[in-house]
Amino acid sequence: MASSVERQLIVFDFDWSMADQDTDRWIFEVNAPDLRRKMKNLKDEVQWTDLVAQSLREFHERGGKRHQIEEALRIMPFHPAMVRAVQKLKSKGKTTFLCLSNANSVFISTILASKGLSELFEEIITNPAEWDHSGLLKLRRRIAPDAARQHQCKVGCSPNMCKGEELEAFLERHGKQFDRIVYVGDGSNDFCPILRLRTSDIVLCRKFRGLERRISKEGDKEGLKCQIRYWAGAWEVEEIFESF
Ligand SMILES: [Mg+2]
Ligand SMILES: [Zn+2]
Repeated sequence: MASSVERQLIVFDFDWSMADQDTDRWIFEVNAPDLRRKMKNLKDEVQWTDLVAQSLREFHERGGKRHQIEEALRIMPFHPAMVRAVQKLKSKGKTTFLCLSNANSVFISTILASKGLSELFEEIITNPAEWDHSGLLKLRRRIAPDAARQHQCKVGCSPNMCKGEELEAFLERHGKQFDRIVYVGDGSNDFCPILRLRTSDIVLCRKFRGLERRISKEGDKEGLKCQIRYWAGAWEVEEIFESF
């Protein structure tokens, strides 16, 4: 299988796919569990990115500090096998890495830097965030609610971002044909992009989470074409990558 592949694209979701936790929830579990509870209570009423932005403002207003968030990110579970897996594959030279995540640019870059992976990704497509001078992390949706162009997704992506459209836009922007696309994901919002994959492409689906459920319920109906391989721990991704 691997022999005919000259150039491949590996697309990584971040939370629970590259990392072994969910950044948005984890930083509050570490620093402000009452805000974590509040998010759980409000998540069906408030759009998720807005809810995280609002919780970051509340944390800041009560004196929460930038270094507390950064420290929580640095200690967040992240399997050493995942670091090895991507470093080894990158060193073989035929793979481009793309990060496609519904977290935000600061969470992802902080964690990648702490693992020595700052140079891994060609692009990180996610919600934009930045620290202001007072130490507030200002987070916005990738697609603002008042933006003229909203996404056209029909399979249920959140209004802030359609990962399927983002993947297609990346492929157009990049102007390169990849012999194979490998998508590593776990969540229900990873279902849309994998519908765009070909029979020669592969999804590495993390078991026991939203993506596995959507594949089994909707995969046939929505015409899912790619090959599917399941994994539970990052050591298995490392094993699979060895064959790439
Ligand atoms: Mg995820
Ligand atoms: Zn979508």
